Amino acid sequence: MSTPEDVPALETVDVSCVFQVNQGFMRGRRPLRAVNGVSLRVPRGKVVGLVGESGCGKTTLAQILLGLLRPTAGDVRYDGVSASTFGRRDVARRIQPIFQDPYSSLNPTKTIRSIVSLPLRIHRVGEPSEWDDRVMQMLDMVGLPRRVAGSYPSQLSGGQRQRVAVARALIMRPEVVICDEPTSALDVSVQSQILNLLQDLKDELGLTYLLISHNLAVVEHMADRVAVMYLGRIVEEADTETLFSNPRHPYTRALLESVLTPDPRLGVPDSHLGTVFPNPIDPPSGCTFHPRCVDCMDVCKASAPTTTVEAGNRVECHLYGGDGKSRAAA
Ligand code: SF4
Repeated sequence: MSTPEDVPALETVDVSCVFQVNQGFMRGRRPLRAVNGVSLRVPRGKVVGLVGESGCGKTTLAQILLGLLRPTAGDVRYDGVSASTFGRRDVARRIQPIFQDPYSSLNPTKTIRSIVSLPLRIHRVGEPSEWDDRVMQMLDMVGLPRRVAGSYPSQLSGGQRQRVAVARALIMRPEVVICDEPTSALDVSVQSQILNLLQDLKDELGLTYLLISHNLAVVEHMADRVAVMYLGRIVEEADTETLFSNPRHPYTRALLESVLTPDPRLGVPDSHLGTVFPNPIDPPSGCTFHPRCVDCMDVCKASAPTTTVEAGNRVECHLYGGDGKSRAAA
């Protein structure tokens, strides 16, 4: 069945995910809102970048999209159909992940043949007699020699291991791939090779990517649209050119001004954001970014901003829309 062009391959509609966090002896549990009312569209055949500091909710959102976590509220849709109507195999056929660290995501005791064919075996896709051929085709596709099929992950380089992870993700022929920091654990010299491979495979197979990265250069290079996440919310979303040439949200501006680090666990250094990321169990009042915002106004401490949409791009900040419009222009 063909799908209308304007139906995104992947979509979240007002998705939230709340964890109950133990506060310690006699202190009970408190809610941690890891994802808070996120609506995001990933159009078919496009790359949407998702950026933000560690702890902003990117990975939780990825786990929800992959069906590994259930949202507390809201809906995830694949091709416009609620994910709640799909079984595990259907989800796995539609959407697959590529994670940051290819070494820890590959079972060191299994051969490459076994690792790449695992999704086929788990989900009983095709005939077992075909599986080896499909593994070999995938190795060709990701630029690995067929002889590595009998090797173990420890016998391969970091770049080769990430190619194995790509082969494993694509052997189910998914429509959507969640690339979660796909090059962060690799040497700089290898990063561009993997990015080029992902770009080539996208074009060849008509894939759709959600690219999660702290590395804005990677996102600018690959993405068609970019969503910026802060403390569980999308605070700005725009086409890549607009977001990089005319960032509107003060948090986006601070991210772009910051010096990037090759290690995503270090967050975003050397910007006026400071190092203190708010405690998500006890988020600030009003706009949750207000303690770090250089443009903070009185209204920001009292009330959360609503979303303003202009030319298909959106921002969630009191500087825009309503009375704030004049402040933004001033
Ligand atoms: Fe800064 Fe206020 Fe905008 Fe929040 S709403 S980002 S505090 S200006």
